[in-house]
Amino acid sequence: MTNIYMDALSRLDKAFSFAHIETEAITKLKHPQSILQVSLPLRMDDGSLKVFTGYRVRHNTTRGPGKGGIRFHPDLSLAEVQALAFWMTIKCAVVGIPFGGAKGGIVVEPKLLSRLELERLSRAYMNAIADFVGPDKDIPAPDVYTNAMIMGWMMDEYSKIVRKSSPAIITGKPIPLGGSLGREEATGLGGFYCIQELANKNKWNPKSIRVAIQGFGNVGQHIASILYENGYKIVAVSDSQGGVFRSEGLDIPSLIEVKKSTQKLRAVYCTGSVCEESNAEKVSNEELLALEVDILIPAALENQITKLNADNIKAPVIVEIANGPITLEADDILLKKNILIVPDVLANSGGVTVSYFEWVQNKAGFYWTLKEVNQRLEEIMVREFDNVYKIMQKNTIDMRTAAYVHALNRYAEAVASQGTQEFFDKITG
Ligand code: GLU
Repeated sequence: MTNIYMDALSRLDKAFSFAHIETEAITKLKHPQSILQVSLPLRMDDGSLKVFTGYRVRHNTTRGPGKGGIRFHPDLSLAEVQALAFWMTIKCAVVGIPFGGAKGGIVVEPKLLSRLELERLSRAYMNAIADFVGPDKDIPAPDVYTNAMIMGWMMDEYSKIVRKSSPAIITGKPIPLGGSLGREEATGLGGFYCIQELANKNKWNPKSIRVAIQGFGNVGQHIASILYENGYKIVAVSDSQGGVFRSEGLDIPSLIEVKKSTQKLRAVYCTGSVCEESNAEKVSNEELLALEVDILIPAALENQITKLNADNIKAPVIVEIANGPITLEADDILLKKNILIVPDVLANSGGVTVSYFEWVQNKAGFYWTLKEVNQRLEEIMVREFDNVYKIMQKNTIDMRTAAYVHALNRYAEAVASQGTQEFFDKITG
């Protein structure tokens, strides 16, 4: 086990003393239930053969089948997948949906593949993990650099293998293939509901709240749009190539236009009419993190705020839309600076919550309206945000620890229902 997974687990120790949970239940949580590694030989368009490595980790299924996305990334490692699977166990418990945690992925730079290669690789991955996953066992979904179309290919592949239509094998599918309305924007919307709760508690006026967002992929774009529509001032956004800053606030719809047509935010500040219109300055990812804003939203990858740059952070509130953007050491530095961190396992849980709705709809064969999806999402996010907030205030702990305490209490109830040492001692002792 390497650092990222060990770091992820160590958050449990901090939460343990505040939760109603026995040591043996925590011990169980420290060991991923099953790990699968697969080799995926792929015939490339030029006729050559390349072998890619894929993983699927099922972390814990005490509260229900494993649930979690599939990531395509060149730097993906098994330790990272384990950490991500562990966070899914916690996340599903935080929002109280009946799933355990899982995660998967392929070590690949998807931008270097043709569309046909990407389809073949996606199908090959599902083919290789088909016995490991299942609608009642382990249900994948999109994550970094995977999307609805890839989920559609994987569902089709699985359905061919089991010789029946199986939409509930995967969530985040295209709507015509059994996807749920609202799934694509759900992670961003869930994060927005958290911000709205903070705004209510602190009597914020959105117009005077300055926001910086690191990461302008699917999730970053959605949270930017929702905040923009609700009057917040998004002063900076960035993607892997760099970012843009405008102190009066950016025009988010036109930025999304540029990003969609060029695939680069960089295009905004180099040449062309959007550049002149948007009047934005160039900002690096590092500079964006250190901006004087009211809310900082990391919406890219893990380990973006580390002990090396944590001291530079000036935002009083950080909302973690990415998974694991703050390292353990950075967390301590930020907490000493009194920065409120709305943790990933709560702030980005809107995605898996609507994945749960999608799975329910697939199983029932009965589909909900967008209004129904969003109302149910809001109900859960508001309720669980407040639950976590209360635990934080009651114990005078940080919000991440409070979210873990909340998750551990739910997990412990499930474990206790199967009998713990105390229960069996009474019979045998
Ligand atoms: N990949 C997303 C996450 O990290 C969604 C998982 C899901 O919908 O199962 O939460």
